[in-house]
Amino acid sequence: MTIAYLNGEFLPLADAKIPVLDRGFIFGDGIYEVIPVYHGKLFQAQEHLQRLENSLEKINLVNPYARATWLELINTLIAHNQGGSQIIYVQVTRGVAKRQHHFPENTTPTVLMTSSPFTEPNKVTEGYHVITRPDIRWLNCDIKSIALLGNVLLRQEAIANQAKETILIRDGYLTEGAATNVFVVLQGIVFTPPKNNLILPGITRDVLVKVLHDANIPCQETAVSEAQLRTADEIWLTSTSLEVAPITRLDNQIVGTGKVGAVWSTAWDLLQRYKQQILQAN
Ligand code: PMP
Repeated sequence: MTIAYLNGEFLPLADAKIPVLDRGFIFGDGIYEVIPVYHGKLFQAQEHLQRLENSLEKINLVNPYARATWLELINTLIAHNQGGSQIIYVQVTRGVAKRQHHFPENTTPTVLMTSSPFTEPNKVTEGYHVITRPDIRWLNCDIKSIALLGNVLLRQEAIANQAKETILIRDGYLTEGAATNVFVVLQGIVFTPPKNNLILPGITRDVLVKVLHDANIPCQETAVSEAQLRTADEIWLTSTSLEVAPITRLDNQIVGTGKVGAVWSTAWDLLQRYKQQILQAN
């Protein structure tokens, strides 16, 4: 049985209920975080909790728990769900209040945490297809907001076009995917858009930038134009669940050689090695 955490209580997921006037339901007034667990061990927990704290601060929601309490609660949830590999979903909303846009006073935030099974990705031999669309989202994409309608509509376009992901373009520049960050390789140099208000600061993105730097593979966090995207030798997606995935078709055009890239293969191996090191040390 899947166990969830809701407002101080561990209970079967099916029994976890929230009132309809929760501001998360009414306004999408809340934030979330997604943390991977490999064989019972959290990966990059501090980084994920830091991003959770940043998101809360950016929406003026007081963090309901100290960092140590978050860790304790999450580890208890992992144990309740039999250890193993899981994805922990954490959501905090501004709580239950009369429906009015402005912040309610003295309202307790709603805290929900769930666990779902995580099948670690394998190193693929075939790349994925992606499409591009204009980035129709708001200008605070650095907040991991639960209001994901833009992302939902954009990802659905990918599915409707038999693609893995929709890569987004704003004002002639690459931002990110509907639920992923994007890397491109041009003449042996790896590029990924800089962290600003136009993208989510992906934890996998940061790990990949670090392992590339440590391995002396040139990697620049600089703006990537649509033209650079369309002429890239390699394109990769990163996310907690995908880790780093190769793209071989962009809007039905072949990327590079049409095969998974050599730099991607190295990046994949570096990421796996780093993950193993960190998990062994924990
Ligand atoms: N960008 C967006 C919009 C996302 O929703 C996500 C998370 N799925 C990512 C990037 C990747 O972030 P992370 O590596 O922390 O999973």
